[in-house]
Amino acid sequence: MTHPDWLTAGASHVWRPYCQMKTARPPLPVVATRGSRLVLADGRELVDGLASWWTACHGYNHPHIAEALRTQIDRMPHVMFGGLAHEPAYRLAERLARLLPGDLNHVFFAESGSVSVEIAMKMALQFQINRGVAGRTKFLAFRGGYHGDTLATMTVCDPEEGMHSLFAGVMPAQVIADLPRDAESEAALDTLLAERGHEIAAILVEPLVQGAGGMLLHSPNVLRTLRRLADKHGVLLIFDEIFTGFGRTGTLFAMQAAGVEPDIVTLSKALTGGTLPLSAAVASRKVFEAFWSDDAGAALMHGPTYMANPLACAAANASLDLFVDGAWAANVERVSAALVEGLESCWSGKGVVDVRILGAIGVVEFEAPVAVGDLCARFAELGAWIRPMGKVVYLTPAFTTLDEDLALLTSAVRKVVGAA
Ligand SMILES: *Cc1c(COP(=O)(O)O)cnc(C)c1O
Repeated sequence: MTHPDWLTAGASHVWRPYCQMKTARPPLPVVATRGSRLVLADGRELVDGLASWWTACHGYNHPHIAEALRTQIDRMPHVMFGGLAHEPAYRLAERLARLLPGDLNHVFFAESGSVSVEIAMKMALQFQINRGVAGRTKFLAFRGGYHGDTLATMTVCDPEEGMHSLFAGVMPAQVIADLPRDAESEAALDTLLAERGHEIAAILVEPLVQGAGGMLLHSPNVLRTLRRLADKHGVLLIFDEIFTGFGRTGTLFAMQAAGVEPDIVTLSKALTGGTLPLSAAVASRKVFEAFWSDDAGAALMHGPTYMANPLACAAANASLDLFVDGAWAANVERVSAALVEGLESCWSGKGVVDVRILGAIGVVEFEAPVAVGDLCARFAELGAWIRPMGKVVYLTPAFTTLDEDLALLTSAVRKVVGAA
């Protein structure tokens, strides 16, 4: 591997994510993207098995999104959102409200997933305050969950699996429970809410897939149970669709597989088709109406500097255009079938305890955490960009990944896993 001069010069200054800087292997220098491939500095191409942390759902450099960005950057890259309005954001809000089921109609924009979760949490807390309900200051979240890396979102991640156990005690503890997967855990959650519901503002869950917590799947029934228990105990329900939103699980939003709607939903990752950071916390009419008042003090006092950035909103609108014809759904099915066929035999791999596929997500789980850096290097030798997480090796490719590239990805996983 040749080392470009910028890599060498910057290496002692860039602090990398999730990285022990002393011992980690150097990162792979990427100079361009093309379709669902990364082009490395030495000219090699890797098929991207992760769509860049689940963002680039249409593949890289999509001409329609690129064109929208070029047009927007010449017209207006950014203006503040306080007191000003612009077409990309207003169109996007209206489109998101139309696409989301139910009356999830009130869109608050931010830049990152974690921040949108924090905004959803703040909305839920103030919803209770504005209605004159005191003492509902906590959140109920689930083992295996992941909602971000900022201080408040760390408190609603899985307390052990999460990367945040170091900070236990720094922030107020939340209520962490098991997902209600069966009659027993459902009864336990009902009891927990009966006892502590008066302290809880909202329940937070990633619908259908707990992503960063290990790609753990649950049935749509879990979401129906949560909706029922939230209503019974007077707490709000927040769906974090930052990973699952925009087709990843086979429906446009994961909640649609269950036919239930939350009071607030958070969106980010694939919102701009993997081009620019943007997120949204979208509230239902009930939540929004608790802020609608002649009392200025009832307003939501929040407004990130780069909120509703016009470039990011233009990219999101262009990405939504690509969902209009429905071809994405056939593509997700095609990817899903390739993952089923290509990963099935991983069951025979050493230390493999589960193989599971949902939509365009394929997961091979091991009994123990894997050596992430070593595996990344082996995958790269095989022409694939795959970065395992904890105990799982997983694929979340772009929906547009070509059949032969999907075959390369699954073949690389089979080889590394030692499957027959
Ligand atoms: C990635 C993710 C987040 C955090 O988003 P960032 O943009 O990294 O802050 C929150 N929730 C879920 C479900 C995610 O997958």
